[in-house]
Amino acid sequence: MKEKGTISIHTENIFPIIKKFLYSDHEIFLRELVSNAVDATQKLKRLSSSGEFQQELGDLTVEIILNQKKKTITVRDKGIGMTADEIKKYINQIAFSGAAEFVEKFKDSGDAKEIIGKFGLGFYSAFMVSEKVEIVTRSYQEGSEAARWECDGNTEFSISTAKKAKRGTDIILHINEDSKEFLEEARLQGILDKYARFLPVPIKFGQKDKSVEDGKDKDDNPKYKTIQVDNIINETEPIWTKSPADLKDEDYLKFYRELYPFSEDPQFWIHLNVDYPFNLTGVLYFPKLKNDFEVPKNKIQLYSRQVFITDEVKDIVPEFLMLLHGVIDSPDIPLNVSRSFLQSDSNVKKINSYITKKVADKLGELYKKDRKAYQEKWANIGLFVKYGMLTEEKFYEKAKDFALLKNTDGDYFTLEEYQKKVSANQKEKDGNLIFLYTTDASKQDTFIQSAKKRSYDVLVMNEVIDSHWINHLEQKLEKTQLKRVDADTVDKLINTGESKESVLSEDEQNQLKDVFTKAIDNSGVMINVESMAPDEMPVSITLPEFMRRMKDMAASGGGGMPFMGQMPETYNVALNANHALCAKILAAKREDTRVKYAKQAYDLALLSQNMLDGPSLTNFIERSVELASK
Ligand code: ADP
Repeated sequence: MKEKGTISIHTENIFPIIKKFLYSDHEIFLRELVSNAVDATQKLKRLSSSGEFQQELGDLTVEIILNQKKKTITVRDKGIGMTADEIKKYINQIAFSGAAEFVEKFKDSGDAKEIIGKFGLGFYSAFMVSEKVEIVTRSYQEGSEAARWECDGNTEFSISTAKKAKRGTDIILHINEDSKEFLEEARLQGILDKYARFLPVPIKFGQKDKSVEDGKDKDDNPKYKTIQVDNIINETEPIWTKSPADLKDEDYLKFYRELYPFSEDPQFWIHLNVDYPFNLTGVLYFPKLKNDFEVPKNKIQLYSRQVFITDEVKDIVPEFLMLLHGVIDSPDIPLNVSRSFLQSDSNVKKINSYITKKVADKLGELYKKDRKAYQEKWANIGLFVKYGMLTEEKFYEKAKDFALLKNTDGDYFTLEEYQKKVSANQKEKDGNLIFLYTTDASKQDTFIQSAKKRSYDVLVMNEVIDSHWINHLEQKLEKTQLKRVDADTVDKLINTGESKESVLSEDEQNQLKDVFTKAIDNSGVMINVESMAPDEMPVSITLPEFMRRMKDMAASGGGGMPFMGQMPETYNVALNANHALCAKILAAKREDTRVKYAKQAYDLALLSQNMLDGPSLTNFIERSVELASK
């Protein structure tokens, strides 16, 4: 008995569309067919456990069989199979939810991945690589007859009875000329490694012996022997499917090493497990971050019921969590995900905020449980926490209680603790609290020491992300401002309202300024005479906080201020009216002596800021030798 028919879609031919739009992703045909085989197997298992199917299940391994001589790939399962009627219903009437609608939608959006997923065209992806596809299948139902379906990529198919002793389905692909790559064993192995690694049913991959004579076996299939020992290639119960209570640290580490064989062990991990309002499981690992620049991407793998979908999880996982490694599995995400789908899907948004919350909770828990251990990890997780606080308001709200600040003594504080710590001593007269920080403790040491003389505390902010973090903290913390320790002379850094008397008269101050103007000879520099403590440096060079931030922003290409990059070097020079050296300069009789001393004092200030080099440095050294030998 042989029946012919047309695949029921209302346009001429759907295959050119499938072929064209899935072009870049041909390899997914295997994922689709293996997923179908796994589904059919799982369905049978469910029927068996509910008692509807009472025979032996037997071996349920799904086999992928490559025959290079026949140019076929067979995907074989021992699942529920199909009757001829079921083939007609599920295969012939492609998406009987409406093929006309399919084609309509297609014209508008052109997003093949999304539409193909939605209309259940997984099976038809076989035609991307095949000139002919056969289905030989036998339903699990007692007394059912095996059926053979054949289609050569046009809308015509034939269906007939077949010989098949055992329950299940063989999908036989006759690979077309353009897709020969898929007849390479290594290529198939690669695809299976990618998509089938954690499938819940055992998968075997083997090749047929090319030398064996053709013939038919008792099921009417080509006769051949397997030459290769075909091992089970997948792990059917990966750790994310298990209960955290049944897992030890070693299990998590072992899984991590399998996924990322070339990475250092992670710092810690989070086991995700929700079933309401959406279904999601997974394990996310916090890797050891090497530095700010090497941000690992595409390290999280997305699965749907253990079928690998993608490692581009951009829209599912909040951006700051892309630093994490691991696996997320959610059946609420369709196999054929497309970007536009992910961006608009409400489940995806919920998943996104769930993950954010879980990660914040985990960090909070680590902090509470063992603050010391948490502080030790801070160097590694700080970047991640700061990034999260900058980009996700919800994360900020939670993380503000466990984000840490570190000072130059190596002590750690939460934001609140730090505000308390400095509130007595670092409050300006108008009530603003000033946090002082250094971006380079060794280069800015002179300034740090001055600040410490006043019992000011200095934070270390030396990571690339810190400049953004500083801006963010100022927006978030009330009446709090951050200033780099060399943004001004120590008296002015924190304006307490006290002013010191100057030992120099106004006239002398002007003279002093004139001498330095001559000595410095640079119109880009602002010179001011200030009354500071006598033990402060006679001359200090500062760059106002505001100016420096603008420059930093321009340098990092942000802030839309390209002109700042070309700005001439400019800074402030503060002369300490109360320093003995300034009095000595004024006391010198000859003008050239005064200028020489002024130059010397200025060069010392440059030197302490690492700004002295080239001929200026040589001159300074020669002048120092001359002055010392007098
Ligand atoms: P989807 O899997 O998204 O439903 P497919 O086009 O891949 O779409 O498959 C259509 C239907 O054909 C499936 O829902 C299933 O009922 C049936 N089918 C496909 N492959 C198999 C198989 N190996 N065993 C049993 N039924 C299958």
